[in-house]
Amino acid sequence: MLIARCCMGVLAVLLAGGALAEACFDRETESHHFVVDSHLHFQPFSGRSLDHLKLVDYMRDAGVRFANVYGIGQTRIEDWACLQHRDCSGEQIIKPTMKNDFVNAKNVTNYFQRDVRLTLSMTFPDLQNPEGILTRMNILDEDFPGYFQWIGESNVVKQALFNMGHEPATLEDIENWAPFMAELRRRDMPLALHSDLGNDDEPTKYLHLMEAVLERYPDNTVVWMHLGMSREQRDMNPEDHARILRRLMERHPNLWLDISWTVLYDYYFSDDDRRPYYVDVLNSYSNRVLTGTDMVASEFSSEQQYERLVELNSYINRFLDDRAFRNIALGQSYFDLLSFDVEAPAICD
Ligand SMILES: [Zn+2]
Repeated sequence: MLIARCCMGVLAVLLAGGALAEACFDRETESHHFVVDSHLHFQPFSGRSLDHLKLVDYMRDAGVRFANVYGIGQTRIEDWACLQHRDCSGEQIIKPTMKNDFVNAKNVTNYFQRDVRLTLSMTFPDLQNPEGILTRMNILDEDFPGYFQWIGESNVVKQALFNMGHEPATLEDIENWAPFMAELRRRDMPLALHSDLGNDDEPTKYLHLMEAVLERYPDNTVVWMHLGMSREQRDMNPEDHARILRRLMERHPNLWLDISWTVLYDYYFSDDDRRPYYVDVLNSYSNRVLTGTDMVASEFSSEQQYERLVELNSYINRFLDDRAFRNIALGQSYFDLLSFDVEAPAICD
């Protein structure tokens, strides 16, 4: 199957040998928006979720044809009780849970999409308490055999959640991941990690955690979300940041970078002085870069919000060289990672 965007930005999915199979992608006239939302939370942190089919419609309308279906790595557990009018005041504890994964799996299997390809992700792992992960993977597999092909987004360290009971994974925790990491290697399943690099006071405070993961599990495919950035880190020196990214990408051939989340646009990619450092990194390692919105869909999420997130998170694509554009914006790297029988169009000369 070959994919080409054509005709007023509409994405056409064509069978190989189809009429447009030879068509190249003209960056002058076509959209720079990505076609893969590899970072899309179908389940909210709190409250009711957005209707599954509505979100798929948002994707389709925005020209997004592939997505990873994430729950969310932490949920206000007591929410479902709150929604039933029980008292749950005071508690602000968040926890990873499997319920997201069951809901998403039911939706994906109930509503097969012909023109939008959804990849289910197990979002439940509690990386600070890894003991039950393998057992829970098996439970999901029993009910939905072969459907889950991704794992994450899970939190190694997420400072935004420190006031809700979340603590960074320790080096000992990471050591204890060994059994499920072995299973992920066996299945060739990528693991997507949210792991803050640091913050504006201590820019590389948590770098050692990501490095520990990569050193301990060099043969696992690991995706580092948001290039390690967060709302706690708006002022990372881009030259230092690029140096760290290059060092890790050189040393760890199974490391991938996720460039989703408007934090990156707001503080780094939209800045004319900072952006060039990132464009260079993305051009260098485009065969290991993934796109996404990082939308956390809730009952209140509108189509306009989704479109806006696609727009902002696609902004940096304009500045990529042609090879990187095809790998990143047109999705070739993602297709390669998941061994999809899909090919992005060539870029026109
Ligand atoms: Zn996310």
